[in-house]
Amino acid sequence: LTLLGIESSCDDTAAAVVRHVPGQAPDILSSVVEGQTALHAAFGGVVPEIAARAHAERVDHCVEQALAQAGLGLADLDGIAVTAGPGLIGGVLSGVMCAKGLAMATGLPLIGVNHLAGHALTPRLTDGVAYPYLMLLVSGGHCQFLRVDGPQEFTRLGGSIDDAPGEAFDKVAKVLALPQPGGPSVQAEAMQGDAKRIRLPRPLLDRPGYDLSFSGLKTAVLRARDDLMAGKGGLHRQDRADLCAAFQTAVADVICEKSRRALTDHPVATFAVAGGVAANTEIRARLTALCDGLGVRFLAPPLALCTDNAAMIAWAGIEQFRARGADDMALSARPRWPLDQRSPALIGSGK
Ligand code: ATP
Ligand code: FE
Repeated sequence: LTLLGIESSCDDTAAAVVRHVPGQAPDILSSVVEGQTALHAAFGGVVPEIAARAHAERVDHCVEQALAQAGLGLADLDGIAVTAGPGLIGGVLSGVMCAKGLAMATGLPLIGVNHLAGHALTPRLTDGVAYPYLMLLVSGGHCQFLRVDGPQEFTRLGGSIDDAPGEAFDKVAKVLALPQPGGPSVQAEAMQGDAKRIRLPRPLLDRPGYDLSFSGLKTAVLRARDDLMAGKGGLHRQDRADLCAAFQTAVADVICEKSRRALTDHPVATFAVAGGVAANTEIRARLTALCDGLGVRFLAPPLALCTDNAAMIAWAGIEQFRARGADDMALSARPRWPLDQRSPALIGSGK
């Protein structure tokens, strides 16, 4: 099967072509991502109206690029997969309208994919991981532990009850006057800092289960900053580095402990991470050590496939098309779409 994937649920417009021959490793023939960071930079966050317009303007171009780079035409495809939610509705709509137009014009099957399913199935695209496995999705917008038992069988074990960790990194960067996105800049500062000097809380560690919380941590950083600045007129360089290190280690501690619990209660062969925060070197190193100790394979897909992209949507489309067939033209864009809820449309048959 050769599928085109389209993704436009947040601030990246993306298109990709993935081919899979059963028994062989999937082939990413092309993967085009057009970010919108510059468009939103002045506003300190993604502006939905700007994002929607940019997606609408760019999605056709992304599709053209993806087909050109794959050296294929529409006639070479077996289907079109598109993110149908969850996400900013204007953006999701741009992708869904584009996919429907293409499907209508070509007669190709249309497959609506949950964005989170795309992330969750990425370890199968990159490493052919067998079901079941555990997945930790840690990004700017999401934080959840998933047990993955099949292309449509996801169980949410727990997750953040407030902010996503990426969001916390971004807010911490903001209060410490570091550049956005906050993850990489806080990490770079943390490298120069002493994580033990400033004590920060470890939210929810005293509670059973796998839920996490990051908003209190962010407030604690703000308070520590004010204490450090008191009477000094500004934040000392070393104080800032120490605060970044303390914050990063606190996030890593919480994520590691909850991961340990999830892996203990759900023994699986593989634990995989996805999302921008999975790029963090301390979090990666700590999870690697944790999995080594438990005898579990740890997997962190390459960053380009960890963050938003359309190859994961094309791949999830391939797996789900085989499992349940295509959607019809009634496919709608959904701003909210919990992963354990399946696609309502079940027509056609997989091949
Ligand atoms: P979602 O995919 O959930 O809709 P998103 O598009 O914002 O959200 P990603 O693109 O996966 O998420 O990741 C972006 C987030 O990852 C940002 O919040 C950024 O600060 C964070 N991030 C990137 N690199 C690092 C790093 N090295 N350490 C920590 N966080 C990081
Ligand atoms: Fe995402």
